Amino acid sequence: MDRKKLKTYRDRLAEERSALLGVVGRNEDYGREADTEATQDPADKASNSYTKELLFSQSTNDRIILTQIEEALQRIEDEEFGVCVNCGNEIQPKRLEALPWVRYCITCQDLLERGLLNEEE
Ligand SMILES: [Zn+2]
Repeated sequence: MDRKKLKTYRDRLAEERSALLGVVGRNEDYGREADTEATQDPADKASNSYTKELLFSQSTNDRIILTQIEEALQRIEDEEFGVCVNCGNEIQPKRLEALPWVRYCITCQDLLERGLLNEEE
């Protein structure tokens, strides 16, 4: 993958990560810091609600995605980004554009969803 593209993905992942950290953190602090919203600048607020809509509202899912985003950023560092962690084939560009933190190509994702792939953690 060319550097320019890689940088775009890195920026996007970093952005999603901070938005998500805001969401995850806020859920944990919910009740304690009810007025945090008021001190946030509007741009932050907008990207948070965008992420919230884009992703799922459950914080468990947020956390899973957060981990996947961090792994994806690490793969960019390691120059392994865009390659399926299971079979080593390139992940379809359309798939990466939709969800830049995906770990598997469509074939392996399908195997995973059918319980035919052992995820090493
Ligand atoms: Zn694969």
